[in-house]
Amino acid sequence: MSVKVRFAPSPTGRLHVGNVRTALVNWLFAKGQGGQFVLRIDDTDLARSTPEFERGIEDDLTWLGLVWDERHNQSKRFDRYADAAERLKAAGRLYPCYETAEELDRRRKVQLSRGLPPIYDRAALKLTDAERARLEAEGRRPHWRFKLEGKRVAWEDLSRGHAEVDTASMSDPVLIREDGLYLYTLPSVVDDIDMGITHVIRGEDHVTNTGAQIEIFEALGGPVPGFAHMPLLVGADGEALSKRLGSLSIAEMRDQGYEPIAIVSHLGRIGTSDPLEVAASIQALGDSFAFDKMGRSPARYDVADLDRLNAQALHAMSYEAAQPRLRAMDCDLGRDFWDAVRPNLQKFADVADLARIVRGPITPVVEDQGFLDRAAELLPSDMDAGAWGAWTSAVKDVTGAKGKALFMPLRLALTGQAHGPDMAMLVPLIGRERIARRLKGETA
Ligand code: GLU
Repeated sequence: MSVKVRFAPSPTGRLHVGNVRTALVNWLFAKGQGGQFVLRIDDTDLARSTPEFERGIEDDLTWLGLVWDERHNQSKRFDRYADAAERLKAAGRLYPCYETAEELDRRRKVQLSRGLPPIYDRAALKLTDAERARLEAEGRRPHWRFKLEGKRVAWEDLSRGHAEVDTASMSDPVLIREDGLYLYTLPSVVDDIDMGITHVIRGEDHVTNTGAQIEIFEALGGPVPGFAHMPLLVGADGEALSKRLGSLSIAEMRDQGYEPIAIVSHLGRIGTSDPLEVAASIQALGDSFAFDKMGRSPARYDVADLDRLNAQALHAMSYEAAQPRLRAMDCDLGRDFWDAVRPNLQKFADVADLARIVRGPITPVVEDQGFLDRAAELLPSDMDAGAWGAWTSAVKDVTGAKGKALFMPLRLALTGQAHGPDMAMLVPLIGRERIARRLKGETA
């Protein structure tokens, strides 16, 4: 069986690390076994969905490398949902209800005060034709509920193992609102059947939905797909991330200079038994993905881990991969420059400051001009690969300085900073003339 999964975001906001993790795990699961990934825009709520958010979702997924094989809009499939609704009505599984939100609320309170579970009492099922006609004549429009069988619905969850939901403890879910809007529950099942979805992978907040949806799959005669419900993300403090997700949008992370491979390596591996290291590619991440590596406990999202993976991705980046970006920043100073600076990068944009060390101008930090004058006299005529070693040992012999006392004044004078890339790699790039000027304390 070839695997086919879907990611079904609502275009009512930008993607954040929570929903991107769902998209990613779907993608990794499918692409790790040569399957297909469907992007299904859940835009049945026409009032809240916007084309801008839809484009934002596509841009974010594309930037992360989550390419899709098929793409659909639920707003173009209303006839399919209407057809399914008719079939459910004919089978007696979808019934009209006329209660207002206030009436339902009042009933729930009464149930709770009597110690009963606040589930819908199915009063609408008992309405006679005449009562319904009277309600409609009053101007009431029905909403439609799916009649649950009220049984133990069980499935083997790829992530949680054996799972069960007792649909007798649930209210019959509303599938169609009084204004005709299809809530996500029915379209999702209709599409999963029509599109041949083999696995539904989503957060564990959907477990209860799955109980009702499996009954809908069965009622529509479709094959029931496999399910995986992932543990949710928590922050470094162990608190649920859900309320903070808005500030963790992919668009913002992109602006902050995070690399896509760092983001996907992080989100694809937190909460699994794999080491938290950057992957060679998103496909490699897919090849090593397996649900049985995923634990039952929440996945801890710590930005310090992401920062570490981001640096790791840059340290491993080839000159060929970096060059177009270096050029776009007007910082392409050649392969030797890239090899000298990449171990020092946290974010790619850091190269701009490092390029300035090489081509100037920087202002030297001078603590002892006499020391620098003596070093200048010993400067080799040719600043080649071995120049730094030869020069510093000559300075050491003449001045008696060693260790930090030898290297730090030279680093401060030549780069203006106390920390930075390997000096032996930098000095040939800075060049003799600029080094001589900096040793005099000149901005160069
Ligand atoms: N649009 C739904 C959501 O984002 C899709 C859930 C699902 O994957 O079935 O919650």
